Amino acid sequence: MLGTYVAGVGAAIEELLAQSQRAADSGQHRQGAQQAEAVLADQTATDRQLANARELLMLHRLRLGDYRTSVQQGLLALEYYTAHGDLLAQSKVHCTLALAFSDTALNETALHHVLGARETARACGNPTAEFWALTRLSLVHGAMDDAVRAEDLGKQALALALTLHKPETSFVAVNNLGDTYLAIGRAMLARGEDASEPLNAGLVLMRQAASLAQLHENPFHEAIARTNLVSLLVGLGQHDEARDQGLQGKALSKTHGYRSLEIDIDAQLAELARAAGHLDEATAMMEAQLANPDVDDEPALLAKLHRSLFEMHKAGGRYARALAHHEQLHEVTLQMTVQTAGLQSQMLINTIEIEQARHEVEKSKVEVRVERLRAEKLFDEAHTDPLTQLANRRGLDRELPWMVRGAHTETQQLCAAMIDLDQFKRVNDEHGHATGDEVLTITAAMLRTITRSADLAVRVGGEEFLIVFADTNLVEAGIACERLLSAVRNHEWHSIAPGLECTVSVGLAALGNEESVPDWLARADAALYEAKRTGRDRIHFDSPDGSSANPSLLL
Ligand code: GH3
Ligand code: MG
Ligand code: MG
Repeated sequence: MLGTYVAGVGAAIEELLAQSQRAADSGQHRQGAQQAEAVLADQTATDRQLANARELLMLHRLRLGDYRTSVQQGLLALEYYTAHGDLLAQSKVHCTLALAFSDTALNETALHHVLGARETARACGNPTAEFWALTRLSLVHGAMDDAVRAEDLGKQALALALTLHKPETSFVAVNNLGDTYLAIGRAMLARGEDASEPLNAGLVLMRQAASLAQLHENPFHEAIARTNLVSLLVGLGQHDEARDQGLQGKALSKTHGYRSLEIDIDAQLAELARAAGHLDEATAMMEAQLANPDVDDEPALLAKLHRSLFEMHKAGGRYARALAHHEQLHEVTLQMTVQTAGLQSQMLINTIEIEQARHEVEKSKVEVRVERLRAEKLFDEAHTDPLTQLANRRGLDRELPWMVRGAHTETQQLCAAMIDLDQFKRVNDEHGHATGDEVLTITAAMLRTITRSADLAVRVGGEEFLIVFADTNLVEAGIACERLLSAVRNHEWHSIAPGLECTVSVGLAALGNEESVPDWLARADAALYEAKRTGRDRIHFDSPDGSSANPSLLL
């Protein structure tokens, strides 16, 4: 039963997401935003559904002019898609973020996202996503007043769209390039230049866009194309056709419930009435628009209406009404500025915070590393003899127990060689303490040459050393120690001090079964004593059962 219930809830969420998507496709953003928010408020929504809802909410909020929420949600969605390696979704989110940033004049950031969109689109090998990135890149360059680049990229996007054979991308490519020409034309008009060339180029494309939308029976697209046609025709001074296109677009929007498009077209028609000199009609149309609560969601349009009304009332000598619109224009402009500035500063704070966090992480990583190295160094120092760099007694205490444990469990033999320099007191007495130190250092180096990495060489004190041979029997250890003896005996000590000669004595003992470490080492010590007693410069072998043996017998 629970399964059915959960499935039911999941399906409800999926349905909400689908509705929100449909709302996005038909420009019903207030409703779409509510549906996405309902998903976000649902405790049973999965992370993926949440990300999906954020992506939709980003788009709806953007269209409603709430850039801050749009960007916030977009960045959260992006985080999820990035963590899950969903390149296509990342590309889409980057695209919408780019739009939000270019609308708020954060062009650098917009560019960053649009390039992110293109990169992820290419990485997942999706030409449609690449098209969206390209067409958005064109728009961003347009917003940066780089008309040449915008036009060039728009043409590239159109060429790519032609290979995709999809109604939507074909329409968008044609429409956006037409829109780019409109923007170029408007900028030229503002500079008092002749803009007929770009406006006519835009007109050709926009008529094509309207036909495409009709062909594919997409009334939303058709209404958009007609709105854009109005703008182009107004720019070209063709008011009659502009009005005709506007009325067609309005009829489509009304029939299909494209509220925000209808509002836009109403504003255009009012401007047309004004341009045709029908000032009273235009004023009435605009004031009717302002009474429409849907207009409140579109601050840019609000500003436009108030500005036109202010100008018309002022021209008509109705100063009190002109002033009222001027004040409202001021308020809307302020609101938009606050919104934009808020987003801009928020983004700056985000960037700084991210940088700071990254810096902190790096710093603590380095600190941890330094701390560890310091600890390792201290540890090593505590376990190392400074003169010979061999392990000291503490090193022996640290290493020996696990060597012994390993030997017991793996039944491998361990051999201890207790090594002592012969007549070392005399070396000191005759050649000085410094020479004695040098002899110790050289002897330590010789010890190292007869040990392998698994063995342990220790300076247990004064001129006494211990080698623990791992996995080595008495015979093998004896051979190694013989090499040591002859190396010490044959070393050219006189190069350090004239007349200097050195030898060592060794006591060897293999660890017996069940034998304790102290007993074992005591036997090695006793064997060393025997080596000394019997003449030095020799090895004495001690077998685990206590019997001593001489090398010749063992070898
Ligand atoms: P044996 O052959 O019986 O071992 O005689 P030995 O003289 O070597 O033995 P003994 O224990 O009488 O003397 C050891 C000497 O080693 C005494 C001490 O001065 C010297 N010694 C101990 N540590 C050091 C050191 O770090 N540097 C130097 N130069 N000498 C040291
Ligand atoms: Mg000695
Ligand atoms: Mg000694």
